[in-house]
Amino acid sequence: MSRKYTPTPYNPPKCWVGEKHKICYDSEEDAEDAARLSEYEHGLPIHSLSAYHCDMGDHWHIANKKQQ
Ligand SMILES: [Zn+2]
Repeated sequence: MSRKYTPTPYNPPKCWVGEKHKICYDSEEDAEDAARLSEYEHGLPIHSLSAYHCDMGDHWHIANKKQQ
């Protein structure tokens, strides 16, 4: 018995936004959770990052409000 190995290159869920790769989140909740975590990690004021729906697909990104 040999298991057929089909190489499926793992593409991290990201998409190009402008000149940057941004991480995609499946839901607004996931993106908001990630935003809160990122604010905490970077010492940013809460809600300085926010989730927004991507124009390119059915997923969400987080962005600095100033950049939006
Ligand atoms: Zn996107």
